[in-house]
Amino acid sequence: MSNGRTTPSDAHLKELGLGQWRHRDSNEMEESGNEAGETNAPTAGVAGNVEEEKISTTTLTLNAEGRYLRQWRIVRKEVSECVLCELHRTRKNTVFGVGAEDADLMLIGEAPGADEDAQGEPFVGRAGKLLDSMLAAIGMSRERVFIANILKCRPPNNENPTPNEAEKCRPYLNRQIELIQPKAILALGAVAAHNLLDVETPIGRLRGAVHEMSGSGIPVIPTYHPAYLLRRPQGKAQAFEDLMLLCDLLEDLGVSTT
Ligand code: SF4
Repeated sequence: MSNGRTTPSDAHLKELGLGQWRHRDSNEMEESGNEAGETNAPTAGVAGNVEEEKISTTTLTLNAEGRYLRQWRIVRKEVSECVLCELHRTRKNTVFGVGAEDADLMLIGEAPGADEDAQGEPFVGRAGKLLDSMLAAIGMSRERVFIANILKCRPPNNENPTPNEAEKCRPYLNRQIELIQPKAILALGAVAAHNLLDVETPIGRLRGAVHEMSGSGIPVIPTYHPAYLLRRPQGKAQAFEDLMLLCDLLEDLGVSTT
């Protein structure tokens, strides 16, 4: 790990409690012109081939982009209409997730709470503000990451997701991860860490280290959930250590945090 650190501002510390073009071979072009005893300019036929290649490459790129955007539309629609588990009966809104669809860093929590259910967005309210401060402490912002949850619908009384609910909802999160292809994941809280790492080790023993997401190998750093930190501010110092670890990991992965 690198020793380079992003320096958080005093305010954040206080808040925390502490289609590439494929070029034609130039030699080939030169030979063509020299053999004809003329200039090195391509003949009309060669120019036509180059144009055709460009059009074909552009078409492939556009098709790939179109498929990518369509996949996002499909998964958004499926989530908004999902009735796979009983939570659809009590939700006000599904909470799909927000942020950059090409983010290097994903933040994954457990499930929407009352505010999130009402607004259809993850991490709003006091926990959301604390999360914003945590991101700012490592030079990040909501716009640069993608934030999602293990569940897309609120469990009544903010209960922990049941294994059945988590299993039913998991394919949506997996598809988001496949589309985003993040370089690293910050798992917020025990539920997220247990589901991503497929372990039941207490969060206090998982945090402070880099793990790998089961099945994908994406580096995962577990830390405390912001809602937990609001209830137990003593944990903020450890959460801050986890953020510094994340900072080092991102730097090693070539991700700028400034
Ligand atoms: S929690 Fe997930 S699986 Fe259950 S209804 Fe909502 S979107 Fe569907």
